[in-house]
Amino acid sequence: MEKRVLVSACLLGEKCRYDGQSKPDKRVINALKGCLYAPVCPEVLGGLPTPRKPSEIKNGRVIMCDGTDVTAQYKTGAQAALEIAQKMGCTVAVMKSRSPSCGKGIIYDGTYTKTLTKGDGICAELLMANGISVIDETEIEKLENEDYSK
Ligand code: SF4
Repeated sequence: MEKRVLVSACLLGEKCRYDGQSKPDKRVINALKGCLYAPVCPEVLGGLPTPRKPSEIKNGRVIMCDGTDVTAQYKTGAQAALEIAQKMGCTVAVMKSRSPSCGKGIIYDGTYTKTLTKGDGICAELLMANGISVIDETEIEKLENEDYSK
């Protein structure tokens, strides 16, 4: 059976990033050939507009650069992405690195000084808590090399 993959929509060229741009990644697009995949943007699914102000996570809350707390929208979007993944039977997600929604392992630290810290984006964390493996575009070779059948 083909691999079933959830993927950050901006990696496929969707202009859903906070700045209205995308981050198309040829390696990701190539790696998805032959897979069944669902592009999602958790921030858009959570009801946030595009473009929107950038956000970072601080003390477990997601805060826009103007101080607006958007944790609820991020959680709503993460839950919606999880439901799509579960309906499609996705066992792995390819997510955009460093995003407060999609990042895995490393994110910005909430100070808006381009400082990175350990941590996961809200959606990546929820996916992993529900048994879905998460990789980011920098480790896309894992999609081919590792067994995500369960
Ligand atoms: Fe890309 Fe994820 Fe940000 Fe949406 S929330 S723009 S899919 S990194």
